[in-house]
Amino acid sequence: MNTVTGLRCRECGQEYPVAPVHVCELCFGPLEVEYDYALIRRSLSRQTIAARPASLWRYQELLPLSRPPTIGLHSGCTPLVKADRLAAVLGVDELYVKDDSVNHPTFSYKDRVVSVAMSQALEFGFETVSCASTGNLANSVSAHAARAGLRCWIFIPADLEQGKVMGSTIYGPRAIAIHGNYDDVNRLCSEIADKYGWAFVNINIRPYYTEGAKTYGFEIAEQLGWRLPRHVVVPTAGGTILPKVAKAFEELQTVGLIEDGPVPRIYTAQAAGSAPVVTALHKGTDLIDPVKPNTIAKSIAIGNPADGYYVLQAVRESGGWGEAATDEEIVAGIQLLARTEGIFTEPAGGTTVAVTKKLIEQGRIPRDESVVICITGNGYKTIEAVAGQSAEPQTINARLAEFDTLYQTGGR
Ligand SMILES: *Cc1c(COP(=O)(O)O)cnc(C)c1O
Ligand SMILES: [Zn+2]
Repeated sequence: MNTVTGLRCRECGQEYPVAPVHVCELCFGPLEVEYDYALIRRSLSRQTIAARPASLWRYQELLPLSRPPTIGLHSGCTPLVKADRLAAVLGVDELYVKDDSVNHPTFSYKDRVVSVAMSQALEFGFETVSCASTGNLANSVSAHAARAGLRCWIFIPADLEQGKVMGSTIYGPRAIAIHGNYDDVNRLCSEIADKYGWAFVNINIRPYYTEGAKTYGFEIAEQLGWRLPRHVVVPTAGGTILPKVAKAFEELQTVGLIEDGPVPRIYTAQAAGSAPVVTALHKGTDLIDPVKPNTIAKSIAIGNPADGYYVLQAVRESGGWGEAATDEEIVAGIQLLARTEGIFTEPAGGTTVAVTKKLIEQGRIPRDESVVICITGNGYKTIEAVAGQSAEPQTINARLAEFDTLYQTGGR
């Protein structure tokens, strides 16, 4: 069943057929995928979804593609963890962690957007895929390209963590490290996309790519028993995931999968060293002043976010807010999540935990209302961020007497 009716400009409403295009020719606004919601409302039920395999494609009517997906078949359906021990520390009653640190196959939320973008690129007939990335996107594009047998070029800043670099190169793409930050990488890639005609998942395939992020929101609702939480805290880099999580909640109401009612308040979390959206939010302006990022949270270090404006809009419409976390607070956030819930996230996740803590302390998030913290990436890729922050193992010989001594002297 084809539920996609075309593309539509977010700003002026001009319509376009499905094609590898991403900006409006009339006003340069971003293009978005349009659906026949009446058709979806008639044909898609909770039971239908529940009977499907546990992947993000269980919501296929609300995703692009006119043929069945061909790549990324195992992404999504990550755990929604009831986080009681973390809730106790933060002083709230009902807290969940949506844990994309275990997404398939490359352990971040980017596996959602890439599964959709790459399936769409295959439908379009592209043979080369590419991306500008802060690390996780390159990992996911490289892995999916390997499995699809596509040629792959990835472009990353030259200063990424080793795990992030190896997490791409192991799959055999052409990897290009750029002297500069993500915003420099992105500018170069826009020129390459124009000239070489590849499928850049986050440039010319962007309308399809961003739709994949909705599945994060769909899953939160389904996993709560087709109910929405009151508060959701989402990290912001380029600004894809936050507005799409908001769109997901609205769409579920539009197609009748959840009852009409208040949508969650959505909060943006940024690193203090790269917080242009939070700064604009606090100033009460729509104008996002680009910054030069300087933070350990490299995966969300984007100084000039493409969709920052839509983050502001979604946050304000929902009645939410946003805060930034310093590098120190980010490390503390990583440790807190690890030690209370046994989940090892990267600095982006540490940022979200730290910002949630702030919002609760400020009284922005009431202590008796349900909260979801969005954990979007895996800590095993970014051990540099927490190096020297945990007690080293104590080394002894394999002799019981040595252990006895260690134990009796109280260890450390
Ligand atoms: C890309 C990314 C994000 C959010 O990026 P958006 O561009 O705002 O969608 C958050 N966390 C991690 C770990 C990421 O890699
Ligand atoms: Zn337009």
